[in-house]
Amino acid sequence: MSGERETVEGLPQAAPPASADAVITLRNVTVSYDRKPAVRSVSVDIPAAERIAIVGPNGAGKSTVIKAIIGLVALDSGQIRVHGEPISKVRQRVAYVPQRGAVDWDFPVRVKDVVLMGRFGRIGWFRWPSRADHEIVANALERMGMTPFADRQIGQLSGGQQQRVFLARALAQEADILLLDEPFVGVDANTEEAIFALLEAARAEGKTAVVVNHDLGAVRRHFDRVLLLNGRVVAYGPPDEVMRPDILQRTYGGRLTVLDAADSMMVI
Ligand code: ADP
Ligand code: MG
Repeated sequence: MSGERETVEGLPQAAPPASADAVITLRNVTVSYDRKPAVRSVSVDIPAAERIAIVGPNGAGKSTVIKAIIGLVALDSGQIRVHGEPISKVRQRVAYVPQRGAVDWDFPVRVKDVVLMGRFGRIGWFRWPSRADHEIVANALERMGMTPFADRQIGQLSGGQQQRVFLARALAQEADILLLDEPFVGVDANTEEAIFALLEAARAEGKTAVVVNHDLGAVRRHFDRVLLLNGRVVAYGPPDEVMRPDILQRTYGGRLTVLDAADSMMVI
């Protein structure tokens, strides 16, 4: 099966082969729910050690692309490789922080146990965590400013604190790819700062981050590349090249008001 070209909607694959330094490649990826396509023919190469923003209106398929990369949704057609492998072989190297609305906050679990879950892929489910594992968990909590909350129930925390717990879990996993789905939604300024610091550190450590983000100004300032999505790929490239009013207009349809082409584009 490997090396075989797959087809989408009966058409031969048009996308070029993956570039050598791509850490994630999507080739003609189509995903449907109840037979309705949510994303169609997505072909993207994500280079190592870059910060990629996924931008698009509600329902554009941003979460679906993230879930497809981590293997949570089945592909109708197309192919995804992570480090050149199917995700099932390299899942431990990919940390995923879901959109906050997708998590059951009433589940009675302490903050430090959530973060320890980041170690399970390495420990295995039936062994005890070692002292090193507990130290890694403590460091991750410290980096996210969550040490004082280690023994709290996750449901007792604010939105920003909950987000930091999940980021700490991702850190504890020691993955080299981070997939963050709308981490900035409903968080306070401290959390926002903590997320940007984490993305900065990730790049310095050669990690790759793919982040769904609505703040176009922040995308311009903090990301190396942006994927504009609207069911299909509208554009993909460095922010300066693809975040043009005409391309954004095509991504958002009538819902975008361009106040000032420089920085302050508003989605209303
Ligand atoms: P975004 O994250 O950009 O808002 P999603 O990837 O969540 O978009 O959704 C893309 C499309 O797929 C939307 O039309 C949404 O309603 C639909 N969708 C997403 N998840 C499901 C699901 N579990 N079942 C049915 N439809 C879904
Ligand atoms: Mg989403």
